[in-house]
Amino acid sequence: MRVVSRAECLINKLCGRGSLSKKELAYLLSRRISAGDERLLFRRADSLRGSHAGDGIIVRGIVEFSNICRNRCVYCGLNSGNVRLRRYCMTTEDILVCARTIYKSGIRSIVLQSGESASIRAEWLAEVIKRIKKLYPAAITISAGERSRSDYALWKKAGADRYLLKIETTCADLYRRLHPGMKLKTRLLCLRALKELGYQTGSGCITGLPGQTAESIAEDLLFFRRFGMGMISIGPFIPHPRTPLSACAPADTVSVLRAIALARLLNPCAHIPVTTALRRSSAREAYKALECGANVVMFSFTPAVFRRLYDLYPGRSKARFDAGRELDGLRAYAARTDRKLDFSRGDFNPLAQKSPVFKTGKFH
Ligand code: SAH
Repeated sequence: MRVVSRAECLINKLCGRGSLSKKELAYLLSRRISAGDERLLFRRADSLRGSHAGDGIIVRGIVEFSNICRNRCVYCGLNSGNVRLRRYCMTTEDILVCARTIYKSGIRSIVLQSGESASIRAEWLAEVIKRIKKLYPAAITISAGERSRSDYALWKKAGADRYLLKIETTCADLYRRLHPGMKLKTRLLCLRALKELGYQTGSGCITGLPGQTAESIAEDLLFFRRFGMGMISIGPFIPHPRTPLSACAPADTVSVLRAIALARLLNPCAHIPVTTALRRSSAREAYKALECGANVVMFSFTPAVFRRLYDLYPGRSKARFDAGRELDGLRAYAARTDRKLDFSRGDFNPLAQKSPVFKTGKFH
């Protein structure tokens, strides 16, 4: 008789019911599960990705238009205390050139990301969105951090379709320690406002943060499900030399992959990207994520002069992250694995995925 491990029971339960308790999820994230059970978890996530999100690997193009940031997030190289970093904000014309390159590559999903700063004027960004929409009809995702409801409304009206605001961690205590002067509550309110305004809303977390537990990551995953996130971006912590966490150990890749697999099993239809932080070390790891639940890859089209300065964590701006070359690599991978690249808008259909948030209006 074959003995069924606790992990296998939990994986079966998760696949059957679509959810697990925080403790059960934490067990699947812990070091206690065997390599065989981990493979099973990845296989199940991969198969659910295929049946619900499809075989396409959605390709998005990102423009990191400004690295100016007022925040002091202790893990991030853009933190305002990093005074040696030269700050930039691309001009409207520069951004339009990038949007054109993305569009000409066939990609129909454009992401505009920046640090958080009042110097990024809402009216200016609304104008940029309008001009891109008019010239290059594609889905636009904004990722510019916490803003007022009226700014979010203005950008929506200008044509933005999606917004990405990572919660980073849902553990209030850890959040406070990592984000001096910021409040978890504010971020949650921003996410709620974005959803109410009709954005396809995305969030995500960092795994392997100093002081973070498996329970805490499990709580993040349950939050994404309760909220009904359209996009879930999970990346590993990478210490940056010019931050207070410079001496901390980096996250291990396996824990990120497991979190991605669990996010998929909890959110069958969500779009789950292979984060750049995960792709940084090797293409193999990146592709592994596509085999345990992820279905999106984002390529940076930020001009090299600026990309060097969009220094979130070391290795991010490496020259080998050339969108054209990376696309070729991904194309070859897709051909090998019987998957195809999907250059469409890659919309999220909330109705395809039942989430408690739609029934109760409660989000946390
Ligand atoms: N300012 C925007 C977008 C910013 S940065 C916002 O707050 O939404 C994009 C993401 O990079 C962050 O959300 C964070 O999750 C990630 N990041 C920053 N520093 C990192 C580090 N040292 N290791 C891993 N991920 C990091």
